[in-house]
Amino acid sequence: TAATAAPTIKQVKLERESELRIEVANDTPLRLRLLNGTAEIFGTELPPEMWLTFPPRLKFAVFTWYGATIEMDGPTETDYTADETPMVSYVNVHAVLEGRRNRAKAPSSSGSEASQGPRVIVVGPTDSGKSTLSRMLLSWAAKQGWKPTYVDLDIGQGSITIPGCIAATPIELPIDPVEGISLEMPLVYFYGHTTPSQNVDLYKALVKELAQILERQFTGNAESRAAGMVINTMGWIEGVGYELILHAIDTFSANVVLVLGQEKLFSMLRDVLRNKPNVDVVKLQKSGGVVSRSSKVRQKARSYRIREYFYGIANDLSPHSNIANFSDLFVYRIGGGPQAPRSALPIGADPVANPLRVTAVNIDRDLLHVVLAVSYAQEPDQIVSSNIAGLIYITDIDLQRRKITYLTPTAGDLPSKYLIMGTLTWLET
Ligand code: ADP
Repeated sequence: TAATAAPTIKQVKLERESELRIEVANDTPLRLRLLNGTAEIFGTELPPEMWLTFPPRLKFAVFTWYGATIEMDGPTETDYTADETPMVSYVNVHAVLEGRRNRAKAPSSSGSEASQGPRVIVVGPTDSGKSTLSRMLLSWAAKQGWKPTYVDLDIGQGSITIPGCIAATPIELPIDPVEGISLEMPLVYFYGHTTPSQNVDLYKALVKELAQILERQFTGNAESRAAGMVINTMGWIEGVGYELILHAIDTFSANVVLVLGQEKLFSMLRDVLRNKPNVDVVKLQKSGGVVSRSSKVRQKARSYRIREYFYGIANDLSPHSNIANFSDLFVYRIGGGPQAPRSALPIGADPVANPLRVTAVNIDRDLLHVVLAVSYAQEPDQIVSSNIAGLIYITDIDLQRRKITYLTPTAGDLPSKYLIMGTLTWLET
């Protein structure tokens, strides 16, 4: 009853350069506001006194440079303050990047090399705070009026669209602490799996396509060229994962490599990049606030992410259900299944005929609960090199009437009839 209910409002006073780390409860949102002082969430300043509502399970920190009082309303999974953070070293990196952006923008910088702002790539194991650091660097830059490009190569926990995709988008304003990255016109490529080992060649091909398009855009846009990019990567750093980090550094011509929380990876990269004098490899400490997630939790996060794509973060979107004839849609698959190592095959056999081969898929019950990408390709042979318009989710296959029912986040016809299928599925809950 109301008489015994404990007051849920709590005030927390933060000393300078400390942070309040919060895990929102599993099923109750949390309201929070800045009462006095100044504070930021992952690089974005909090508006004074305005209540913000954070969705269940969100993990974040409210950091203050000069001291602040925070008010919270609602239960949390955990909340505690920490005065040891790597934030000073992170903001120092930002200051160096800022200097390079200014130099790139200066009128004397006319050559293509000189007018190029920093191209930062953030690498490290899973749960080292890569996405969080990327976000801070982008928000701090945006606060100073730059429009840096965010490139997310993490197909496991991507923060731009949904798992299984790689994407890029300009960041024009500090990233909203609740809503995340605003998606005006992201450039998205569909890989279709959540681990790169499913088809390494396809992953590399898509990274290359994305980099080429961005390069073309930079050529015509001195402002975004000077602002540079921040590239977030996967937590896969061993074996093929390591090879893919090198591939990304090379493909995007990254000139600042930030290594989070792993000495070994740092020294490997420093050694291998020693002969490239214009590439700086910097080691940064991982924040003690980064929350480790088990593979099961990560799996769940992927599923929530797909849900958010269709229903919105606060359940504020209403996806549309559409019905099409089997004959209206063309579903394709890229490459075979997982690639067999050469050693496992008879001598002389080709591991996989062509990992980039596009093959038509018959529409049947196997498509139920599959997440498909809508390609911008005009012809099937352009599918690998084309970005995607968005994703659809198959909710029913009627074999008798030859009808397919699918969900789209917004109303309207599909921009193309070419769909790409990977191994991405989702069970609506
Ligand atoms: P990675 O990209 O390396 O896998 P993330 O940046 O996604 O790691 O961080 C993992 C989780 O920890 C995220 O949910 C993030 O919001 C949370 N997190 C990161 N830094 C902090 C912090 N200082 N306090 C609280 N939570 C944090």
